[in-house]
Amino acid sequence: MVIVMRNTATEEHIADIQERLGEYHLRGHLVRGEERTIIGVVGATIPLTLREEMEHFPGVDHTLRITRPYKLASREFRTESSVVDVRGIKVGGGACVVIAGPCSVESEEQIMQTARAVREAGATMLRGGAFKPRTSPYAFRGLGEIGLQLMAQARAETGLPIVTEVMTPADVDMVARYADVLQVGARNMQNYQLLEEVGRTGMPVLLKRGMAATIEEWLLSAEYIMNQDNPNVILCERGIRTYETATRNTMDINAIAVAKRLSHLPVIADPSHGTGKWYLVPPISLAALAAGADGLIIEAHPDPDRAVSDGGQSLTLENFATLMPRLRAIAEATDRTMATPLEVAVAV
Ligand code: PEP
Ligand code: MN
Repeated sequence: MVIVMRNTATEEHIADIQERLGEYHLRGHLVRGEERTIIGVVGATIPLTLREEMEHFPGVDHTLRITRPYKLASREFRTESSVVDVRGIKVGGGACVVIAGPCSVESEEQIMQTARAVREAGATMLRGGAFKPRTSPYAFRGLGEIGLQLMAQARAETGLPIVTEVMTPADVDMVARYADVLQVGARNMQNYQLLEEVGRTGMPVLLKRGMAATIEEWLLSAEYIMNQDNPNVILCERGIRTYETATRNTMDINAIAVAKRLSHLPVIADPSHGTGKWYLVPPISLAALAAGADGLIIEAHPDPDRAVSDGGQSLTLENFATLMPRLRAIAEATDRTMATPLEVAVAV
């Protein structure tokens, strides 16, 4: 349920409502929008009479029932699109962000070279995995904390905020000390303890869609994070598993537009995992932006043939630089701009 406050509502009115909700063991999620303040009430057992009761509270304009199973993530809850702020870079505000970097952090030289090149080409954030979910236990599983330190070093020099995956609740605090955006991978989309733990940090979270998840399940996973009072969720479509074998996954372009319609959260696309082929990354990047994605996360590597993971879907640094102006053309054709990198280096 959503309680929409009048323009004239005071802090005291809001506090009275919160207190009453507390008596029902419910929590109100307060959202101060440009026009109105609203209180989202979520919980397994909302009394049937609560709506009527709330309509009579001072300061309340009206109440609405949210019909979708996800509440805080739904556009019924918030009609305005949300903007997630990552160290001053706005995701979802009409400027398309490009997050680029290797699948895995491999060495100082590799991450520094990549960071400098993608920054130069206009990327707004740096990606790189230090904890890698690998299908085979014998594959390279990441440098761990050393990889995070190398990412922080790249951020210090280039100013690019860093996006990196956290795989287990036990590592959240440590990864959060380095990351600007915590990535929850496709394989962990339904790891509910991890979702709650990243939710508790209050930090921006990049939530990948599970490879066999419906859009509703994906949004319910976002709800787990948001229910920890963390509104900073960025959804990421990364392809789903289908019968098709010509590509690694089937990039669900539909899902971008559907998620934007059902949810107010920013949605970005990952054409690298979505296709599994470097030569498909440019066309599918363009398609994803044209479909309304608020940005892209793209794997790029100085020497994809020698990459320890996902080389076959990684762009060379040259191909990445060639793609950027083409993305700008699509952003402008859809009445948006490209986000610009932060001007100054960020202190670690
Ligand atoms: C990745 O970003 O390198 C990754 C493992 O992605 P996904 O979780 O989408 O497979
Ligand atoms: Mn990868």
